[in-house]
Amino acid sequence: MTAKPTCTAPDTDVIVVGAGFAGLYLIHRLKAANLSMRVFEAAPDLGGTWYWNRYPGARVDVPSLDYMYSFDPDWRDDWQWSEKYATQPEILRYLNHVADKHDLRRRITFDTRVERAWWDDDESVWHVRTQHDADITARFLVMATGCLSVPKEIDIDGIDTFTGDVFLTSRWPHEPVDFTGKRVAVVGTGSSAVQSIPVIARDAREVVVFQRTPTFSIPAGNGPVPPDKLELLTADEAAYRRAARASQGGVPVERSLTFTASVSDDERTARYEEIWRKGELLETLNVFADLMTNQDANEQFAEFARDKIRATVTDPATADALCPSGFPFGSKRPCLDTDYYATYNLPHVRLVDLRATPLRHVTETGIETSAESFRFDAMVLATGFDAVTGAITAVDVRGRDGLALNEKWADGPATYLGLMTAGFPNLFLITGPGSPSVLSNMVVSIEQHVEWVVDGMTDLGHGGFDVIEPTERAEAGWMRHQADSAAITLFPKGNSWYVGANVPGKPQVFLPYPNGVDFYGAACAEVVERDYLGFALSGRAGSRCNDGVIRELQPDAQMVLDQMAAVNLPPLESMSVEEARAFHALSRAALPPGPEVAAIEDGVLPGAAGDLAYRLYRPDGRGPHPIVVYFHGGGFVIGDATTDGSLCRDLCARNAAIVISVDYRHAPEHRFPAAMDDGLAAVRWIADHAAALGGDPGRLAVCGWSAGATIAAVVCQLVRDLGGPHICGQVLFTPATDWAATFPSHVENAEGYGLTTALVRWFADHYVDPADRDDPRCSPLRADNLAGLPAAVVVTCEFDPVRDEGDSYAEALAAAGVPTRHIRARGHTHSSLTMVDLVVSGAPVRAEVADALRNLLTTQPSAVA
Ligand code: FAD
Ligand code: NAP
Repeated sequence: MTAKPTCTAPDTDVIVVGAGFAGLYLIHRLKAANLSMRVFEAAPDLGGTWYWNRYPGARVDVPSLDYMYSFDPDWRDDWQWSEKYATQPEILRYLNHVADKHDLRRRITFDTRVERAWWDDDESVWHVRTQHDADITARFLVMATGCLSVPKEIDIDGIDTFTGDVFLTSRWPHEPVDFTGKRVAVVGTGSSAVQSIPVIARDAREVVVFQRTPTFSIPAGNGPVPPDKLELLTADEAAYRRAARASQGGVPVERSLTFTASVSDDERTARYEEIWRKGELLETLNVFADLMTNQDANEQFAEFARDKIRATVTDPATADALCPSGFPFGSKRPCLDTDYYATYNLPHVRLVDLRATPLRHVTETGIETSAESFRFDAMVLATGFDAVTGAITAVDVRGRDGLALNEKWADGPATYLGLMTAGFPNLFLITGPGSPSVLSNMVVSIEQHVEWVVDGMTDLGHGGFDVIEPTERAEAGWMRHQADSAAITLFPKGNSWYVGANVPGKPQVFLPYPNGVDFYGAACAEVVERDYLGFALSGRAGSRCNDGVIRELQPDAQMVLDQMAAVNLPPLESMSVEEARAFHALSRAALPPGPEVAAIEDGVLPGAAGDLAYRLYRPDGRGPHPIVVYFHGGGFVIGDATTDGSLCRDLCARNAAIVISVDYRHAPEHRFPAAMDDGLAAVRWIADHAAALGGDPGRLAVCGWSAGATIAAVVCQLVRDLGGPHICGQVLFTPATDWAATFPSHVENAEGYGLTTALVRWFADHYVDPADRDDPRCSPLRADNLAGLPAAVVVTCEFDPVRDEGDSYAEALAAAGVPTRHIRARGHTHSSLTMVDLVVSGAPVRAEVADALRNLLTTQPSAVA
């Protein structure tokens, strides 16, 4: 059933703008959904990117077998790719072939630019005006206008005065351009330049490349289609394409789970070499799990890439100038090349580093830099695009109440899922800002979007609705998630078109969604499964608004949960204690190790009933250092002095403090109050031996996570009552503070966030008799008096069953006059802050804790003398 209008019938169901990969697939799907359409394309023919970008050397940089439609299952009967990376003419032939095979072409009106579009709220239709002054109405408007289709305005002084030929790579002429015997300038060193320079240099008499920012480029290793890849694809194409959609980048490669620092130097180099030989961009970005999240990991690979440049380019000064620095690998889109660097070894090719000698202006005969005048016959401008938003905002789009999209997006685009934007009903964006788009194999992202959009139109019709629009809340939620997602990666750290930095005056926001096609696709699917969560629908069937936010967890915390769910392990509480301990030890050992510290020393100290193992983390620099006594998490049942190693390293490195992680006796062998007795004994012993350990006895704090935080809190109460030793601060990460009561968070966050309420109960049953649960040594929140305790830093996490216990403790401490810093970690789970370098979004929280702790260790007078 198609969506039927409520009011005046529009001219057509759907208007599509653009006839590239996206527009063509839209036509195919809309036809199948029996929706009528008009398709407008500014160019005289179809193909989009592959129509416009005809510069020498233009080719795809995602393998051809991956960069193709999946909807044409018998494609092998009438098509084959000639190369691993197909050229522009071949891709354009492919698109024409698909259009003819599926009878798509006759739906398109060419040479017709859409200039204006406005929403008519009374009629619930879009009015669209083209350059030919035609007005057409449609229920839905779909912008398939491309992420890289509007060339950046030429911002080079004097370009109009040049009397030779000027070519823009993105608007290359159709007739052949012959550079034989010519002196050619190339401005730019992005992908278009990197592809065209070696080809131009084959014919030209002289090539001078004007480089502002050097790029990272990887050798493509182009050649015939790799037979093994073709075989893998043909063995089960459906599975291959499914794997592509379930992958990070849209090519079927599993996400790397290996961290750079977790392998030896030799293994790391071998892996780098292997990926370099492979010549695949998206796989390169996956070389280690932390390439795009960890600055050190990124820098190691960047240096490997620079070594490759130095090894190829014979002139050391040119090599140096070609080596990118000052931004992480991948934060400006890396290139894939054939002979790019080697081209600079040719005697007639020269690089001019514009950072050293800036381009002053173009003259009638050439280019003047601050150092030199150059004469040229032709200039090639490979200066890029007004990316992602440029083609959308080039159209004067007005939504409800005449709101201009340009105005709404004045400070940067706001969308829900990169698909729609609030205030603009029935307007869909294909690969819009806030979706993976340019960070992925775009054909995969285009197909996923087109299917979501057309299925959505169909669902709407079936439900008796005509109008769909995201809510402000859903959009704000997605934008917050988008910002959180960008913040945990290094992607936004380059002056790249990813952030709009290449276009003067463009608001700088990270435009694509960086968490991957897999993670993104799951969110889109979940929105539909949850009855179009975050959308308001209206029409014949009335109105319905299913308001809500699709992603509230920090993205990396969510990913960890998703990965755990995918493994489908039995819940910890269904295991025996031994199994649970073994599993816990194994999973904690698999975490990234955390930052380097100067030394790690193991020892034993006397506990309340026998020796306790400890692990000491020593910071750089000369002591005496402050000491943090740390108690591990694990519900009093599991874990030991070594299991929270990465958090301890992090505490040590951030605070320049000795961190001593002390074990304690566990339940069910040793039930309450054994752990508390051991905690107290350990703190006393460490205070007595602080100097011998290299620490400062006057600057001792306690810290713990989860059950360990309970111990830390209780120890503070005990030493207050016993008159010592001196503790200057307590840091409690997600403490359990009341084992006797039920809090709303026990119910709200009972399941789905790692620690479950059922597991908390399992721990409680092993640890403490119900009759003892209101003892303040078990439930510190139940203490009669909290006054006079050491200053506290209490960290609680939004999606934690014990969140409210921690919140209550922080509030009670503050109410009792204890200096308390309460840090509420938005979007975090009970465990996520402890997953150093895996859940990168925890770093700012731990930095805040460190800041507070440093303050306590330096300025807080002890509450206990
Ligand atoms: P486009 O192909 O850009 O098509 C959009 C169409 O909309 C254009 O034809 C344009 O004329 C038309 N249009 C825009 N505004 C209007 C308007 N107002 N009215 C009428 N028509 C309008 N991606 C990859 O994943 N892998 C690659 O290897 C890769 N290589 C690339 C190489 C180059 C040189 C460039 C520039 C981009 C490359 N991309 C690559 C990105 C590429 O843009 C996408 O892969 C894909 O082709 C985009 O398809 P599309 O249909 O969304 O947009
Ligand atoms: P780009 O990556 O934005 O590169 C533009 C280049 O021009 C940059 O080096 C830029 O320097 C330089 N530049 C811009 N204005 C300048 C000025 N006024 N003076 C001097 N230098 C100037 O553009 P692109 O190469 O066209 O590529 C855009 C994107 O399209 C790619 O990142 C990729 O996604 C896609 N693409 C893919 C392929 C492929 O291999 N399949 C090929 C081409 C394009 P700064 O960096 O200093 O701004």
